[in-house]
Amino acid sequence: MSTPSYGPCIDAAQITAALARHADPTPQAIREILAQARDLNGLRDQDVAVLLANTDRDLDEEVFHAARVVKETIYGNRLVLFAPLYITNKCRNDCRYCAFRVSNKALVRRDLTPAEIARETQIIIDEGHKRILLVAGEQYPGSDGIGYVCRAIETIYGVKSNRGEIRRLNVNVAALAEPDYRRLNECGIGTYQLFQETYHRPTYQSMHVSGPKSDYDWHLEAMDRAMTAGIEDVGIGALFGLYDYRFEVLALLHHARHLEDRFGVGPHTISVPRIEPAAGSAVALNPPAAVRDHDFLRLIAILRLAVPYTGIILSTRENATIRRQCFALGVSQISASSRTNPGGYSEAATGMRSGSQFSLGDHRNLDEVIADCLELGYLPSFCTACYRSGRTGADFMELAKPGLIKEYCQPNAILTIKEYLQDYASEETRALGERLIGRSLEAIATDGLRCDLCDRLVRIANGERDLFY
Ligand code: SAM
Ligand code: SF4
Repeated sequence: MSTPSYGPCIDAAQITAALARHADPTPQAIREILAQARDLNGLRDQDVAVLLANTDRDLDEEVFHAARVVKETIYGNRLVLFAPLYITNKCRNDCRYCAFRVSNKALVRRDLTPAEIARETQIIIDEGHKRILLVAGEQYPGSDGIGYVCRAIETIYGVKSNRGEIRRLNVNVAALAEPDYRRLNECGIGTYQLFQETYHRPTYQSMHVSGPKSDYDWHLEAMDRAMTAGIEDVGIGALFGLYDYRFEVLALLHHARHLEDRFGVGPHTISVPRIEPAAGSAVALNPPAAVRDHDFLRLIAILRLAVPYTGIILSTRENATIRRQCFALGVSQISASSRTNPGGYSEAATGMRSGSQFSLGDHRNLDEVIADCLELGYLPSFCTACYRSGRTGADFMELAKPGLIKEYCQPNAILTIKEYLQDYASEETRALGERLIGRSLEAIATDGLRCDLCDRLVRIANGERDLFY
């Protein structure tokens, strides 16, 4: 049987061969790879295949330890926070795992008007968020296609009040043609995200029954079109549970390397969604290649070692317990207080409601998530400085690679959490936050930076906002 074609960047035969070749690694081989990974230069495919093949739990602990060291060295204790905003659940695709699929006739469909989008944004701002991830099904109202999304972006950025504003808007919408990516870029988006769901072509074809997304190559080559159109920060991902997670991890790395080779910069982020139950979806209820918790932790740790400078995003699909474990292993961005139905923030209750895309594992509000992070020693960050200072794409990676980003990110995290504590936090969270700010200031080695930061913290306490490096 001939090997199916995988487009220019995924060499499926190579991935399968690498996984087969390294099926039974020795402890020594694993330890040598972990020693290399600690140098922060990433890993080769064959090294990743060796780590993925390991079945010894004690050695997995060593992998986790190495991932913690890499995470700590590059990202310190920061965790960047965002909230998703779903603007429509109408969709012309038939992805079998998703409640928004066109064949799900039971779903209550809705696309938000500008006034509704503004109301949702205001609620998100009032909770304390500064970053939104705009999400949509692939069917936009009106005759102007992506124009609906562009107007939504304008609306979201336009919501300003004395309670704050959205300072960075990332977008997760269906694959577009190059001119539409140009329009999206002109709206001032941060990262453009699109998940390949599965890189395994036969599985992709069986999961995507109809609609534009059923074209594997159109979907796979979307990031090439986006970057050609000038979008500098892109986020890739796989929906874990559709096919063997080890194949997906190696394919994600192929995709990342392809973008780096072609555009001089790899993806800004990798997302690791795991399939959750979705209304009426047998696939979502019983995923064909479900990833157990332990393997999920492994894949996050291995990605952290393989691409140390690429952000890893974890959503509220996961519950609080597993999220806590993932933070230490490599996750750098998390969503909090999410709703996955259009208009969800304007509704009061939590959990699965009519119109949701999937059920959530973490229902806590932002203040509870922040308090939990602070108690665990993490510094929640609402920083949006790089994007607004033009430190994007290759410029960002140039800064990030020698670790210089720490000199911006850590102080900016402190400034933005201070704003949050002043404007939104409960008393208990404020006390936890002030203690962590104190400890974080002590850890700053440069006297000049520490003094300047202390001055700025006083200015924030006195009412100034949006200070950043
Ligand atoms: N419609 C666009 C698309 O499919 O690329 C973008 C938005 S879609 C709402 C965002 C992501 O949700 C999808 O890429 C998919 O990975 C994820 N998703 C869909 N169904 C899911 C489920 N049952 N559990 C977890 N994630 C799911
Ligand atoms: Fe539509 Fe995206 Fe859901 Fe597929 S995953 S049905 S494209 S919203």
